[in-house]
Amino acid sequence: MVSEPRPRKIVHIDCDCFYAAIEMRDDPSLARRPIAVGGAADRRGVIATCNYEARAYGVRSAMASAHALKLCPDLLILRPRMDAYKEASREIHNIFRTYTEQIEPLSLDEAYLDVSTCEHFAGSATHIAQDIRRRVWQQLRITVSAGVAPNKFLAKIASDWNKPDGLFVITPAQVEGFVEALEVKRLHGVGRVTAEKLARLGIRTCGDLREWGKLELVREFGAFGERLWGLARGVDERPVLVESRRQSVSVEQTYDRDLPDLSACLERLPELLQQLGVRMARLDGGYRPGKPFVKLKFHDFTQTTLEQAGAGLELDDYAELLGSAFSRGSRPVRLIGVGVRLIDLRGGFEQLSLF
Ligand SMILES: [Mg+2]
Repeated sequence: MVSEPRPRKIVHIDCDCFYAAIEMRDDPSLARRPIAVGGAADRRGVIATCNYEARAYGVRSAMASAHALKLCPDLLILRPRMDAYKEASREIHNIFRTYTEQIEPLSLDEAYLDVSTCEHFAGSATHIAQDIRRRVWQQLRITVSAGVAPNKFLAKIASDWNKPDGLFVITPAQVEGFVEALEVKRLHGVGRVTAEKLARLGIRTCGDLREWGKLELVREFGAFGERLWGLARGVDERPVLVESRRQSVSVEQTYDRDLPDLSACLERLPELLQQLGVRMARLDGGYRPGKPFVKLKFHDFTQTTLEQAGAGLELDDYAELLGSAFSRGSRPVRLIGVGVRLIDLRGGFEQLSLF
């Protein structure tokens, strides 16, 4: 007897107007007015991201900034602050890693997670996705949308379904009906040219597409025809491709109540280091621990990271780093992170083998 493979549980997370959301968070005076992040109009710049107030005027990503300003003369176009976006992305990935190591980033603000074997919430991918959304909001004060489905292409469509700040779930039992009504232009890999060709053939939905045999589709679309045949039936076996090599390992904790002083922070250190030890034990053997580091986020969302070359990885070493980091702000603390930079032994060998 052939057993059915167990359906996978894939979550697609997509931050809502990510760069613009970070800018509005860091400067609340920007909220509720149309803003974009991108290049200057007089230098033939392009819009990278804009908020929903700007979208109401028709402003879109990848649009020339000069054109965006014609549509919306009040549009404020900010220069990108990539360091801030990368830092936010790292924090979000740290949240992801508390559920799974099976993470495939698509960009700074978008990733697939395979949570098929995750034991949180009795394995409920819906609850995991909802918890990720809650924690990203609590810790970073930006919203993310999530899609849950048995494969990547449906999870990505789902994350867009209730955007912004939304969650949409397609259970294995719902795949059949959901895909039947789905427009073919939303399928992974169907661009404008393919969509136009499908439309000429009278194919608008996946239901229409299902009336075509595999061979007929291959004749019309080459190798992609076979893929279309599968997608029309909700089939997408692409695995979640895990990001290659790690540069550090860390754990972070946001506290419900701000920690008022240094001694309150120091009290939390043993528990954090214990979790860090668990995380490090899970790494493959291709790494050696390097510098320890401590990150603090203060109650006003300012933050500092401090690392120490040559220091050990004992409680005392981290306590000393924590003390120095705290003295930079001397304010109540909402988040503590502890980590270790990693020395990638494999990377080293690969480089050596070049000579
Ligand atoms: Mg996004």
